[in-house]
Amino acid sequence: MTRHHPDETLLLEYASGAADEARALIVATHLSFCAQCRQTVTVMEKVGGALLETTAPVAVQADALNRSLARLETAAPFEPLPGNYDLSRLNIVASFQYKITD
Ligand SMILES: [Zn+2]
Repeated sequence: MTRHHPDETLLLEYASGAADEARALIVATHLSFCAQCRQTVTVMEKVGGALLETTAPVAVQADALNRSLARLETAAPFEPLPGNYDLSRLNIVASFQYKITD
């Protein structure tokens, strides 16, 4: 039986999807071994779902999709490969981060 558990703040970050990748991986690993925390996260997810169902919808701006796509285009960190590039020579090392600001 596990004696050490993530605190409720971390479990809530995980349940809400707010935990970064490293923290989410740690919690997910813990949850695979701890029924007590799995139950806590399940309750948190159900509460979050119930809150979303009772929240009044908010209209999305008509140009929201285009603005988001434009941000993705400008966030591209490299130039596209030339069309005649031999892809068998390509070794991809990738990472992805994003930050949305207004
Ligand atoms: Zn636990």
